[in-house]
Amino acid sequence: MTILIKGAGVAGLTAAFALVRRGHTVTLLDPADPGMGASHYAGGMLAPWCEGETAPAVVVDAGEQAIGWWDEALPGLVERKGTLLVAPARDQSELERFARRTRRHEWLDEAGIAELEPALAGRFRRGLFFRDEAHLDPRPALAALLEALTRKGVKILRHANERAFAQVIDCTGRAAIQPGSQLRGVRGEMLYLKTDEIALSRPVRLLHPRIPLYVVPRGEGRFMVGATMIESEHDGPISARSLMELLNAAYTLHPAFGEAEVIETGTGIRPAYADNIPRITGSDRHLAINGMYRHGFLMAPALAEDLAVRLEAEPQRRSATA
Ligand SMILES: Cc1cc2nc3c(=O)[nH]c(=O)nc-3n(C[C@H](O)[C@H](O)[C@H](O)COP(=O)(O)OP(=O)(O)OC[C@H]3O[C@@H](n4cnc5c(N)ncnc54)[C@H](O)[C@@H]3O)c2cc1C
Repeated sequence: MTILIKGAGVAGLTAAFALVRRGHTVTLLDPADPGMGASHYAGGMLAPWCEGETAPAVVVDAGEQAIGWWDEALPGLVERKGTLLVAPARDQSELERFARRTRRHEWLDEAGIAELEPALAGRFRRGLFFRDEAHLDPRPALAALLEALTRKGVKILRHANERAFAQVIDCTGRAAIQPGSQLRGVRGEMLYLKTDEIALSRPVRLLHPRIPLYVVPRGEGRFMVGATMIESEHDGPISARSLMELLNAAYTLHPAFGEAEVIETGTGIRPAYADNIPRITGSDRHLAINGMYRHGFLMAPALAEDLAVRLEAEPQRRSATA
C-alpha cells in the first residue's frame, strides 16, 4: 500500500518508521524542515511514572513501552539513567504528595542525592528517584529516524498530490487545530542554558510552587530547561514572566545556573484533546494521529504501532465487506 504521511514531527516520523518496518511504501510530506514543530522544543523525557502524577494509566502503560521502542529503533541514543525529583525544604509535603500519586520510585536522603548527582550535594534533604525512566535528545533522535527512513527509500516532499496515495495519515500537530477538530493548543516555553560550573547526569525535576521545573542535561555544558504549560495557541517568543520564572526555578535548583549563558529560548504548541490523551482518528483512506499533548515522545511509539496493526487489519476488513 502506498501511504502518505503528512507531518514529519515525532508523530509522523515514528508512524513512518513503524510502517516501513512492516514493508509499506511511505512518503513523507512536510512544507517545513522535518522535526521543527513542537517536537524540536521537547525535553525528550521518557518518564511514564513521573507523568503518572497527573496522566491516566493509559499514558503510563504506553510510556513504559516507549523506552524499549526508542532504544531498539535508535540504538545508543536513549539514556537510561532515571529521573531525580527534588523539592525545596518548604515544599516537602509536595514531594510526599507526588510520591503518593506515583509508583516505581524510591526515596533518597541527602547522601543518596549526592551519590547520584554530586553537584546537588547538600542542597536537598530528600528526593525521589525513578530509576527505570529514561531520556533522549529529540533533535538528534528525530534526525536519526529521518536518516534511517531515507536509507530505506522514504522520500520527503514539500508538496504532494494526496490523491495519488491509497492511504493518507495526518500527523500535522498544531496545524490540525481547527474548529470542530476537538483539539486545542497548550503553549510550552523552554530555554537552553550553558555552563561548565555544574554537571548533571540525568533529568532533574524540581517541585516549585509556581512552575514545576525540569532540567535535562544535553552534554557539553548545555541544559534544556522547561517548561511552561499555558492554555494558549500563541506561538510568539517566550514571555518575560516565563523566562524569569524558569530562570528563578533553575537558580533554586543550583545557583550555578545564575551565571549560565542563555543560549536559546523557544516555544512549542502541544496539540491536545480535552482528556489530554492522544489518539488515532478518522476512517478508511484518511486517518490522523494527534493530541500528543506533553507526551509526544512517550506516546508516539504506541500510536505508531497501533496504526500499523490497524492498517494491516483494514484491507482484510475492506475485502470482507466488499
Ligand atoms: C517545551 C516542550 C517540552 C516537551 N517535553 C516533552 C517531553 O519531555 N517528553 C515528551 O514525550 N513530550 C514532550 N513534549 C511534547 C511533544 O513535543 C509534543 O507532544 C510532540 O512534539 C507533538 O508532535 P507532533 O508530531 O504531533 O507535532 P509537531 O512536532 O509539531 O509536528 C507537526 C509537523 O507537521 C508539519 N505540518 C504542518 N502542517 C502541515 C501540512 N499541511 N502538511 C504536512 N505537514 C504539515 C509541521 O511542519 C511539523 O513538522 C514537549 C513539548 C514542548 C513544547
